[in-house]
Amino acid sequence: MNAARKEFALTVEDLSVSFDGFKAVDGVNLYVERDELRVIIGPNGAGKTTLLDLICGKTKASQGTIKFKERELTKMAEYEVVRSGVGRKFQTPSIYENLTVYENLEVSFPRGRSVFGCLAFKRTPDVTERVNAIAETINLQDHLQREAGALSHGQKQWLEIGMLLMQEPELLMLDEPVAGMSVKEREQTAELLQRICKGRSVIVIEHDMQFVKNIAHRVTVLHQGKVLCEGSIDKVQSDPKVIEVYLGH
Ligand code: ADP
Ligand code: MG
Repeated sequence: MNAARKEFALTVEDLSVSFDGFKAVDGVNLYVERDELRVIIGPNGAGKTTLLDLICGKTKASQGTIKFKERELTKMAEYEVVRSGVGRKFQTPSIYENLTVYENLEVSFPRGRSVFGCLAFKRTPDVTERVNAIAETINLQDHLQREAGALSHGQKQWLEIGMLLMQEPELLMLDEPVAGMSVKEREQTAELLQRICKGRSVIVIEHDMQFVKNIAHRVTVLHQGKVLCEGSIDKVQSDPKVIEVYLGH
């Protein structure tokens, strides 16, 4: 891929992090476009989650650069990375079980910078409009008044995606979003992801190769902290190195 010729939303170069001398991420380059849905695969311990931790500012890089919309993220605090338009979903959903779906989305609306902004909460038309639009995107438009704790596992995952969407991130990163989902929920999640990658970049870590096939625009294979292979799903699936370290198992 010729990085110099293209405008990328996210440009990661020579990114590394060591934990007690062990390089969990080792000289990674990653270029993701707007409207792109990139899937990262690779064996356990390959550094996939750590790579997302680095991009969202949860872990500090030992070396390298992360440029997002021309801004350097490696020097930012985690909250500044969020504010610059990066949303991250972790493996376990962090929703408010005792609030309704509506309220979960509502409290996720970005609300200025002070705590008082949150307390002086008003149900303004722009909030209501966005909650309704996002509820539709995440297939929960008929569940707005239900308590989030009563949702199915898959619906909880969608709600958390919706909570991130409330902040209108331009880069959304999801770590194994369909783990534990039914076949039907996986299909619906694939459709959901195709909808939400419009106008932004989405990075998904995933193991389920059928699901990867359904959603990926491009695939990056990580192995021992390094990019082993990158390209279309067909290219990656037929690469002997990828079959040896990952797909063959
Ligand atoms: P993956 O998500 O691909 O399964 P991870 O990114 O979670 O892999 O982990 C990559 C490697 O880095 C693993 O060997 C893991 O044990 C190690 N690792 C991750 N985070 C830390 C940490 N905070 N401290 C020490 N080692 C870590
Ligand atoms: Mg992981």
